[in-house]
Amino acid sequence: MINVGIDSGATLRYGRVVRLIDLQIIGTELAVRWDDKTETFVPLEILRRRCPCAACQGETDVMGQVHRGPDIPLTEESFRLVRVSPVGGYGLQPVWGDGHSTGIFSFDYLRRIDPQS
Ligand SMILES: [Zn+2]
Repeated sequence: MINVGIDSGATLRYGRVVRLIDLQIIGTELAVRWDDKTETFVPLEILRRRCPCAACQGETDVMGQVHRGPDIPLTEESFRLVRVSPVGGYGLQPVWGDGHSTGIFSFDYLRRIDPQS
């Protein structure tokens, strides 16, 4: 079990209701505990594949067409989480083993990609 560690001084809020209490990598999953007594478990591979950044998901132009950058080849390193930084009290920014770190996962998004829910 690796404790990723979040700055305990940071005010992490999900709306005005849910706060992030704890964040750990357990095996190959990211485990997040919220203060409404729920937990979110997301396998790291799914987390990386759902990376919301423009390079991974593409950008939609005014005509509604999605433009993607060149495919980023995913390797074993791509699914290794190096660390997670809190972002502005509403999200998390993972840093991956292959150096990718542009995806910001809002708490709302994170809770929605929990494959258990
Ligand atoms: Zn990305």
